[in-house]
Amino acid sequence: MTLNEFKTALRTYRKQELRALLFFMVGMVGLTLPASFIEERAKTMGFDIWCILVAVIGFSLVGGLMFYSAARLPQKCMRRLGLVCPTCQKPLVGITAQIVVATGKCGYCGGQYLSP
Ligand SMILES: [Zn+2]
Repeated sequence: MTLNEFKTALRTYRKQELRALLFFMVGMVGLTLPASFIEERAKTMGFDIWCILVAVIGFSLVGGLMFYSAARLPQKCMRRLGLVCPTCQKPLVGITAQIVVATGKCGYCGGQYLSP
């Protein structure tokens, strides 16, 4: 990978990271939906089986979306763009990306990453 290709991949990754953050924020808002349903139903009908079902299913789905957007989505994007060291498999984003730009080598293992 050349320096320009690396910088382009890094910009693409940052855009994807912002998108993942947006999904996470949508999940945060989405958590209020089952909570408000449970609150309303508990006030009128009492805490019944529907409250438990909505709590388990709703919070699992929204929590799963939030976990995926915060943990899995950035990792998948990083691997797809080739922003991992081929030697040690560590991510080359953040401060490590600056080391790669400055030296052309992985900041973890020192292996050559950028082609000269
Ligand atoms: Zn490495």
